[in-house]
Amino acid sequence: FDSRDGVIWFDGEFVDWKDAKVHVLTHGLHYASSVFEGERAYGGEIFKLEAHTDRLIESGRILGFEIPYSAEVINAACRETLQRMNLVDAYLRPVAWRGSEMMGVSAQHNTIHLAIAAWEWPSYFKPEERLKGIRLDMAEYRRPDPKTAPSKSKAAGLYMICTISKHAAEAKGYADAMMLDYRGYVAEATGANMFFVKDGVIHTPTPDCFLNGITRQTVVDLARARGFELIERHILPEELSTFSECFLTGTAAEVTPVSEIGPHSYKPGEISITLMNDYMAAVQPKKTAAAAE
Ligand code: PMP
Repeated sequence: FDSRDGVIWFDGEFVDWKDAKVHVLTHGLHYASSVFEGERAYGGEIFKLEAHTDRLIESGRILGFEIPYSAEVINAACRETLQRMNLVDAYLRPVAWRGSEMMGVSAQHNTIHLAIAAWEWPSYFKPEERLKGIRLDMAEYRRPDPKTAPSKSKAAGLYMICTISKHAAEAKGYADAMMLDYRGYVAEATGANMFFVKDGVIHTPTPDCFLNGITRQTVVDLARARGFELIERHILPEELSTFSECFLTGTAAEVTPVSEIGPHSYKPGEISITLMNDYMAAVQPKKTAAAAE
């Protein structure tokens, strides 16, 4: 990934993709003092850019650092990165981290860095897989108690258990893994939120110890706009056999139906398919009156 052509926005300027490097004694690498975003551009526009930038800044604050650029500067930098890379449908990855001045748990005065990379990225899961639904393993690791980890921050350190769980699932032939939370309730997949359907009603876990995804919030609004009943609540794994549909939501995953979680099977039905289509319509750039003429 580090040998591509193009440029990366790095601490306020564009550098050659291959030269966007950090020192091995970077605090972010040793102590996970790093936060990031995942954004998608559709038709040349970054979907919900402002919400992603605000979350990035907040993620840093939760870890105790201030990103040294305003939201306006970060938004403009994201847009310019997309343009300089000549991308229309793409994925963007802003990442902020503590630098290398001090090496130890405490690094109060280390410089905070920010980089933004963009690349072409088709659907997270293969399109043919999306239609038949993806298969999820049950992860062994759980989402931690918010008193144990900064669960509202999109912090790199919180992804350690996601990568372990996803690798374990892939080794068994699954596309992804479903994680429970510290209490044993259904939480989320390794990089996406979860929704279920029972008797025409949508159920989704309360995001009290994991990210309330920007896609999740969009899909909740879309579901309510359609008049679907939606309940946010704690869901027990024993209930998995009682649902008829299941889908994931995330910037990368978009709306992806799930066909299996361990021994339980689901079929993408009317609600999953409607919301999948509504989401794909919602992410398209809004045409101005002039452009539409
Ligand atoms: N949970 C986790 C662990 C994630 O990595 C993501 C992707 N950022 C999400 C949920 C969904 O968040 P969003 O819809 O904002 O992409």
